[in-house]
Amino acid sequence: MNIPFNKPYMTGKELWYIAQAHHNGWLAGDGGFTKKCNAWLELRTGARRALLTHSCTAALEMAAILADLQPGDEVIMPSYTFVSTANAFVLRGAVPVFVDIRPDTLNIDETLIEAAITDRTRAIVPVHYAGVGCEMDAIMDIAARHKLLVIEDAAQGIMSSYKGRPLGSIGHLAALSFHETKNIISGEGGALLVNDPELAERAEIIREKGTNRSQFFRGQVDKYTWVDIGSSYLPSELIAAFLWAQMEEADAITQCRLYIWQAYHDAFVDLEQRGKVVRPRVPTHCEHNAHMYQLLLPSLEKRTAFIAALKTEGIGSVFHYVPLHTAPAGRHLGRAVGELRHTLDISDRLVRLPLWLGLEKYQIEVIRQVIAATEW
Ligand SMILES: *Cc1c(COP(=O)(O)O)cnc(C)c1O
Repeated sequence: MNIPFNKPYMTGKELWYIAQAHHNGWLAGDGGFTKKCNAWLELRTGARRALLTHSCTAALEMAAILADLQPGDEVIMPSYTFVSTANAFVLRGAVPVFVDIRPDTLNIDETLIEAAITDRTRAIVPVHYAGVGCEMDAIMDIAARHKLLVIEDAAQGIMSSYKGRPLGSIGHLAALSFHETKNIISGEGGALLVNDPELAERAEIIREKGTNRSQFFRGQVDKYTWVDIGSSYLPSELIAAFLWAQMEEADAITQCRLYIWQAYHDAFVDLEQRGKVVRPRVPTHCEHNAHMYQLLLPSLEKRTAFIAALKTEGIGSVFHYVPLHTAPAGRHLGRAVGELRHTLDISDRLVRLPLWLGLEKYQIEVIRQVIAATEW
């Protein structure tokens, strides 16, 4: 048997759209396919402005520039996340301030944020883990009272919502990922969502190497020139063409993923009742996108044995994250508030199961049987 942990899904239309881009003779960024993708994101999220980038990392870096951070400014975020969440701000000289996660959703514990605020705090970065929304009402309220920017790391959050509002549409800025391990993909890829209208114009400039090229093309200025700091954050049309094929199928992809997620969820009821695993928790006010199916095991030793047992049967399973505040760079560049007890605990016990389009119901049953029958 061979059930890989991930297998990127392709709709079948990607090459056709890439051929169209080829035929159109427009290969650089911001051609017709990029515009279609941006418009789709604006329609689906309600964001004021959506700008495709070459990665979510790039979108986070743009957000960090837009936040106008000075060296020594602080940005509050979970430690249980991917490195880019922190690195984007560190690149601007800011200090990531790590707080603990909630043991249920594994999202930043909103009740710990206020105690982490100092007079250097400029922004909060909630990460929507597994596409399940953070407690955004509480977070936006704290941000408003302390005049902080909220930047959603919605890398995993496309097609999810919190109290009916799409993830990525609630903070001032948000970053999405289209990396091949995410739900909607283009190999590498991402987008910046700008919800604060005051940041929209500068976002375009930063993405276009610090020039007013976008305004020039729209005929709004008569000279195209260097006006701000920036870099090249936009993807090629070939990538946007690929992504457009995925966006067209985004509803169907999400439905299929939810079906697989639910099959796992039903399969592990018994194991959870016997106290062997804890299944994911999704609050009723959060609609998720089945980005991930993860289990919590009783201990690090059990998890190591679990992953090895599945590997013996040809089934791929993985764990993440090394808490950023314990990582070599995080220890020097960031600051932790409190013990981060749940972060340390969860990072030892969480395991992710295969979840990709094409995974069959019988394969999920095989995975269930292997987990139920094997010593781990
Ligand atoms: C995947 C991911 C990123 C990085 O996305 P890229 O598109 O690979 O740059 C950032 N944050 C989180 C939470 C992610 O899951």
